[in-house]
Amino acid sequence: MAAAALARVMGDLVDIRLIESDEIGIVGVGEATIPQIKLFNAVLEIDEDDFVKHTQATFKLGIEFSDWTRVGHSYLHAFGGLGRDVGGTPFHHYWLRGRGNAGGEDLWAHSLNAEAARAGRFERPGGAAETQGPGGLAYAFHFDAALYAAYLRSYAERRGVTRTEGRIVDASLRPADGFLEGVRLESGELVSGDLFIDCSGFRGLLIEQTLKTGYDDWSDYLPCDRALAIPTALAGPIHPFTRATARPAGWQWRIPLQHRTGNGYVYCSRFVSDDEAASTLLANLEGEPLAEPRRLTFVTGKRRKLWNRNCVALGLASGFMEPLESTSIHLIQSGLNRLIQFFPLAGFEQADIDEYNRQGDREFEQIRAFLVLHYKATERTDTPFWRHCRALPSPPELDRKIDLFRANGRIVREAEDLFTESSWLQVLLGQGVEPRGYHPLADRLSQRDLVELMINIRRIVAGTVARMPEHGAYVSALTRAGAA
Ligand SMILES: Cc1cc2nc3c(=O)[nH]c(=O)nc-3n(C[C@H](O)[C@H](O)[C@H](O)COP(=O)(O)OP(=O)(O)OC[C@H]3O[C@@H](n4cnc5c(N)ncnc54)[C@H](O)[C@@H]3O)c2cc1C
Repeated sequence: MAAAALARVMGDLVDIRLIESDEIGIVGVGEATIPQIKLFNAVLEIDEDDFVKHTQATFKLGIEFSDWTRVGHSYLHAFGGLGRDVGGTPFHHYWLRGRGNAGGEDLWAHSLNAEAARAGRFERPGGAAETQGPGGLAYAFHFDAALYAAYLRSYAERRGVTRTEGRIVDASLRPADGFLEGVRLESGELVSGDLFIDCSGFRGLLIEQTLKTGYDDWSDYLPCDRALAIPTALAGPIHPFTRATARPAGWQWRIPLQHRTGNGYVYCSRFVSDDEAASTLLANLEGEPLAEPRRLTFVTGKRRKLWNRNCVALGLASGFMEPLESTSIHLIQSGLNRLIQFFPLAGFEQADIDEYNRQGDREFEQIRAFLVLHYKATERTDTPFWRHCRALPSPPELDRKIDLFRANGRIVREAEDLFTESSWLQVLLGQGVEPRGYHPLADRLSQRDLVELMINIRRIVAGTVARMPEHGAYVSALTRAGAA
């Protein structure tokens, strides 16, 4: 992603060397994304149909959380908006007022994304269904991460990036200022550079092993520290959403692609052994396993400085908060955005580096608050893990959000907050956080107008979804088109 984006945006200004080791390989489990990925692909001028074909991608409308609040309960975090704001007051205040009235009870029936996900239907904006519809679906992708990496590699190479296959065995620092000077490959080749982007994964080859930047361990907030990943054969329809099902000591993902389904159990090793976790995962698969489970170990947290001297850490080298809301690939993208904004073409300025780090830290912290909400706001007391989650410390950003919402249903979004008001609303309500009141301006609508508003939105949403094709059929038609 870094080589491709920098080649696209400033390939004529800088020489880019990409060093990777096939022998080490990539983690390759990041397969669910959020809608911002479309922006990344658009900046690269990647044709979406071509991308979908080459990465075995399917469309994602949101995430279904099963058994998180209590066993047997489920809710959606659907992308996109909900309902329609009236007179500048967000829709959900009207919904909070009208709950219990005819047409008011199901929040998600007012979301085009949620209804399409529940019906297993999909169509990109501008399609036939939308002619009288409320603005089209907000979507992201599920894709094969290894195929996306290969796709971007060849994109970068076509735009002048020199790619070297080989293992880095050593790095040297400039004695004068401790900046990185170069790296040495196993072949003996020395590669020097002005700016180094550490994309070496959990090991943090340059940012940590060489520069000793330090890592803030967030496992007090986000206790899961392992994952088992396993692909299965497709079984049944290809759902246009990720499923995250709570398990005794963590949660299981299901990510449907065109050619297989990605599955995994993210768990906390303090509460379950690897063998038990593997049994739980294998007992809860929908399709035939295509490989043995693969184990990954991690510590949730963030590198103390995302940019240190002349080294910027991206991806897992910068930190990892666990994959519950599919935020890691996005953090690579937003890190790149920020790097381009503060790019040290004219030399390094500490003020630029500090601002890059400040913004990145805030973004990580806002995401952390959103993730902790899923674990902490649970009614579950059935296993030691879930009892532990209820007692998790609350990051200050989360306390503020919950207090505001509990009072009068208000949701405030700050500058570096990745998630929209609609995302917070769905997860707060989905996890059982209930407001005591709502914005008083919602009382301005007459009772009749309020009921009509709700019924109209539901009718338009349901009608639009009914005109959409089934998701799997839509993907097949797209991949068949131009296949010859
Ligand atoms: C269980 C799990 C589930 C996840 N699910 C999601 C998800 O659904 N959505 C999402 O957005 N993200 C997800 N992620 C995160 C996602 O996988 C990563 O953000 C993404 O794959 C990027 O990884 P990376 O490039 O930072 O590291 P890696 O994939 O580990 O790549 C490291 C690269 O560095 C190279 N390298 C390392 N050492 C050397 C060396 N000495 N010499 C030369 N080259 C070297 C390797 O060859 C490789 O190319 C998940 C992560 C985990 C652990």
